[in-house]
This record gives sequence, C-alpha cells and structure tokens, in this order.
Amino acid sequence: MANPMADEMRRFKGSDEKNPFEAMSERFDRAAQTLGLDADLYAVMRVPSREIKVYIPVRMDTGHLQVFEGYRVQHNFARGPAKGGIRYAPDVSLDEVKALSAWMTWKCAVVNVPFGGGKGGIICNPEQMSLGELERMTRRYTAELIDFIGPDKDVPAPDMNTNEQTMAWIMDTYSMHARHTVTAVVTGKPVALGGSLGRREATGRGVLFCVNEAIKRYKLTPEQTSVVVQGSGNVGGIGAQLMHEQGYKVIAISDVGGGIHNPAGLDIPAVLDYLQKNRTLEDFPKAERISNKDLLEIECDVLAPCATENQITSENADRIKCKILAEGANGPTTPKADKILHDKGIFVIPDILANAGGVTVSYFEWVQDRMGYFWQESQVNARLEEKMVASFNELCHYATKHEVDTRTAAYMLAIDRVAYDTRMRGIYA
Ligand code: GLU
Repeated sequence: MANPMADEMRRFKGSDEKNPFEAMSERFDRAAQTLGLDADLYAVMRVPSREIKVYIPVRMDTGHLQVFEGYRVQHNFARGPAKGGIRYAPDVSLDEVKALSAWMTWKCAVVNVPFGGGKGGIICNPEQMSLGELERMTRRYTAELIDFIGPDKDVPAPDMNTNEQTMAWIMDTYSMHARHTVTAVVTGKPVALGGSLGRREATGRGVLFCVNEAIKRYKLTPEQTSVVVQGSGNVGGIGAQLMHEQGYKVIAISDVGGGIHNPAGLDIPAVLDYLQKNRTLEDFPKAERISNKDLLEIECDVLAPCATENQITSENADRIKCKILAEGANGPTTPKADKILHDKGIFVIPDILANAGGVTVSYFEWVQDRMGYFWQESQVNARLEEKMVASFNELCHYATKHEVDTRTAAYMLAIDRVAYDTRMRGIYA
C-alpha cells in the first residue's frame, strides 16, 4: 500500500549524507584521535570481528519458496558476549547492521555492562508477511546462526519490527537444537518465558531518566518542559507515555505515517489508544497534522527522535529549535548535523547513552535467566535508574574534563573502556 509519509521518511533515511557505518566510523575516528588511541587497537576496534550473511529459504503461505537475505554482525567481544537486536525491514543493509553492531559495542561500554556489540537484520517486509511466514523465517534464520549465538557468545534481542514473540521463537529454535531450554540465548522475551519485568518499557524509561537529568541543567521542571517525540513504537510511544505520566508536556508525536501537534499538550494515553485502534494518527481530534520532517523543526525544550537513522542532517539541522536533543533512536543525527547542533548550543544526549536503557535491562534479564531468580519490577526500574543517572553524570563529567561535546565524549569513554580491556587481554595476533 502506498504511504507517502513513510516514503518521505525512507527517502530521508537514504539521503546519502553518509551511510550509517561511515557515520559511525567518522565519530569513532574523531574520538580515537582525541584519545590518542594506539594504532593496533585502532585497527582492531574500527572493524567488526565477524560479519555473517545468510540466505533464508521460507515456505510462503502460497506454497512457494522465497529466499530472504539476512545478516548478523558481531562487532566486538572484548568485554563479553556480543549483544544487540535483530531488525526486519525492507531497507536493511549490511552497512546499517555493521553500524548498529558497533553502536551496541559503544553503548554497552558507556553504561558499563559486560557485553560486546552485535546486530542482526533480515531484508523483508514484515507488514506483508503472515505470522506463520514470520515464524518460519525467524526459525530458519536462527538455525543458520546456531553455532554463532548463545548465552556466552552472542545474545540477540528485539529491534525494529521484532518483538517478544520473535524472541520466543528464537529461544525455542535454539533450545530444540541444544536439546534443553536455554532462556539466556535472547533477551526481550515474554515475561512468562524468562523475560524480565520492565524490559518492554526499558528503552523509553532510559530516555526519560536521561531527560530528567538534562533538564536540571536548564533549571526546568517536567511541568515547564515541552517535548516533541518522533516515533511511537517501543521507544517513542513508551517514552512519551512515561514523560506524560511524570508531568512533561508532550506537544507533538508521530508514527511512520506522520505526526500530530498541539502546543497546549497532547493527551498521550489517548493518542496511543487511538493509534492502536486506528493504526494511524490521522484525524486525531484536537491536534494539527504535521509531517515527520516538519515535526523535527517545532520549537520545544526536548526533541526526542525515536524512529530511525539520519533524521537530522545538514539539510535541516539549522532549523532544529530544541534545547535538548534526546536520541532515542540509533543514529538519528549525521556527523555533519552534529557540528551544526553544537554551534547552535543544543545539548545532545547521544544515542549510545540515551537509548541504552533497553540493553541495560537486557543485561538484567540475562543475569536473571542465568540465576534462575527473577526480580520485582520496582527493583529492575530502580537499578536501571541508578545505571542511567550514573552514566549520564559520568558522561557530562568526561565531556567537561576533556573539553569535548557530549557525542565525542560518549565515544571516547566507550572506546577507552574497550581499549583498556583489549590491551589487558592482549591481541591474539
Ligand atoms: N535493539 C535494542 C538497541 O538497539 C536493544 C538491544 C538489546 O537489548 O540487546 O539497543
């Protein structure tokens, strides 16, 4: 079905300012240079450890066989098993998955959880696939990766267009091959199957905890803070909901088809309810319709891009009018835009911190699975808050100490940690 807004978002994502891996590498290079990273470490850390490409035959409902192309990239293992989501989308590419896997390495290091980075993806259009087709594709993809994943090797999780059900299929397929149930092979599972309470909300909650800290720098209370959210999925929708509950004034929100805006504030629970029932935000009462592109340019205190990559580029960065940019998505800002935002004095909470709440609670889930002892939700949330607040403050302190912007500081902090561990282990060369 034609969807002009979705096309607009895809075009924006593809507008080759830089591809995501180049965008990641550019930040990595700048941070490595500022750190004076040793040449051997630089050479090892700049590239993924392993790139796996698989061709996945799937029996479609029509009876025909279709072969899908999928990837799993394991970027770094220095600090523990690879960790990161799997996404299903028509525009998945190897370079995107490479970038996302590297971002996982840096993200896990920024919040100091004992994982490396990994990411997976399958080129497919999940909107046009039945549940049965998705299940068969997921199981065969898992079977192809059977030697490469596992609780001590690489632990997948949900990402765009994958969810608790997808993780349950992966866990089951892996367990069938292992001949016993291995819950810790994936995180983001249903709670009844070894998932963690609070995992579903964790990424949005992590964004909230970062924003709570950031507004203190502007002496703002939640009630005085206007928020614009791009995206209404697991990160944007839940983030907006949690901010609304805390008293923030969420004045605009979007989904892939476009957004709605009301300067007086939106009733977020009603918006999400409407979206669930109608599968669109169109005609939501008491709000103006706005495109995803224009939504980013609304004047606000906090702008939270929680959708996809390359939304803030050199083309629109100059028109961004927020005080704080909270990057709920992975890679929403390009390196060229970084400089423009910096010159405008916008305080950036970089993606590898802002959206790290998800992987932090994934770590808690993995720990709980291995212990076989499950925590209360209040415990999960309190530990998440502790981690996010500590990491936020550590990052700000690091940025001040090294006189760099917060993005560079986040990369430097992460690279420094991975480099230290790599140096201590030594390179098996
Ligand atoms: N896909 C999420 C991310 O990009 C979560 C990864 C995880 O929990 O392993 O951070």
